[in-house]
Amino acid sequence: MQSLAQIDIGPAYREEQEKQLLARIAARKQELGDQLLILCHHYQQDSVFSFAHVTGDSLKLARQAALATDRRYIVFCGVHFMAESADILTADEQIVILPDLTAGCSMADMASREQVAAAWQELAPLVDLEEIIPITYVNSSARLKAFVGERNGSVCTSSNAERALTWALSQGEKVFFFPDEHLGRNSAQAVGIPPEQVVLWSRGEPLGGNSAADLRQAKVILWDGYCTVHMQFSEAQVRAVRQADPGVQVIVHPECRQEVVQAADFYGSTEAIIKAVSESPAGSSWAVGTEINLVRRLAWQYPDQKIRSLSPVDCLCSTMYRIDPAHLLWTLDNLAEGRIVNQIRVDEETADQARTALDRMLNI
Ligand code: SF4
Repeated sequence: MQSLAQIDIGPAYREEQEKQLLARIAARKQELGDQLLILCHHYQQDSVFSFAHVTGDSLKLARQAALATDRRYIVFCGVHFMAESADILTADEQIVILPDLTAGCSMADMASREQVAAAWQELAPLVDLEEIIPITYVNSSARLKAFVGERNGSVCTSSNAERALTWALSQGEKVFFFPDEHLGRNSAQAVGIPPEQVVLWSRGEPLGGNSAADLRQAKVILWDGYCTVHMQFSEAQVRAVRQADPGVQVIVHPECRQEVVQAADFYGSTEAIIKAVSESPAGSSWAVGTEINLVRRLAWQYPDQKIRSLSPVDCLCSTMYRIDPAHLLWTLDNLAEGRIVNQIRVDEETADQARTALDRMLNI
């Protein structure tokens, strides 16, 4: 696989005033015209977000890239796994670029293909592997998606994880769900799987810290990955915000812990959170449990509602934040001068198998 080392963009970019950076990005965007498609995830900082041709969650952005066949350069302002998905879904001649190669995802990094393959082999003496259907959240590496694709499994998103679980249990006896424990647990609860049939696979422990009997009776095995941003929300915060404002509605992302999701009024993907707020009448009060850039943008877009973060401290995706105006400009300057930097390429074999898992999701 390609190296993720980011070269230093140099002081001319790092020390430039933000106002100048933004003016130069606007000029380069215009110069590159119809060759260019800038995609921005909802968690992106505003100074970068304002240059997006398309905004959305990771899968929507990857699909938009695939539809924009006339755009040669896809600059993906998100994190590494998102740019990989875009490369898998786009045509060979389209070039996907991540402005800073260090913009990874801590959750995706918690489940390498090698770790997952070792766990899979540990299960072999206990259960028929053909009866285990692997499901991976889209927040995972292309290599893990390929592992899942090879074993009759599927990708899922935070919007369709419940459907994916139900589908998987119609195909086999058990589901092995990667990498997010909490999305898996919340989805299992939503589709009525009893908690005693859901077990956690702890990395680094024999049999993931389970007994052979527990694994044999489990319906769902959850990998112990998590999102460092959504783990910052707590049930105590839900109680505190309700005490301060009895009329508040609490909405959280399903990457939050189960007790937070259960204490909230609503839970859903970033797109579902945006929809719920956008459809609410003036005067509504919301406490939102997701990344701070999205929460701030909602508050700014709907000033007639009271919208704040569920957490009193800012919950920021620090890796996504690495895509800043300086790196975006550096990327566009290079493109305008005929150089391609930071291209994200998934090798053909991995891409084919990962695409199988992505296609399976679309057909569920
Ligand atoms: S918010 Fe969490 S899951 Fe999303 S990219 Fe950041 S670390 Fe990964």
